[in-house]
Amino acid sequence: MDIVVATLAYCLLVAGLFLGLWIYYDRRDHARFEAERRHVSFQCVRCGHLYALQGEHNRSNCALCGQENDRLRF
Ligand SMILES: [Zn+2]
Repeated sequence: MDIVVATLAYCLLVAGLFLGLWIYYDRRDHARFEAERRHVSFQCVRCGHLYALQGEHNRSNCALCGQENDRLRF
């Protein structure tokens, strides 16, 4: 294999590596941002307390009385 082909192959390999890293970190940051942005609301069935949690939760305990509540659906 001559030196030009070897150099070209090396450059493509490095470019591909950086492209892969870029896509990986972009997707990871986007997923992190979406998880931070998303809030789930709850209303306590016992005391009526309204509260919100970050991320995905289907059930949560009330901060005031400890009652386990389902998330509010709109
Ligand atoms: Zn409560």
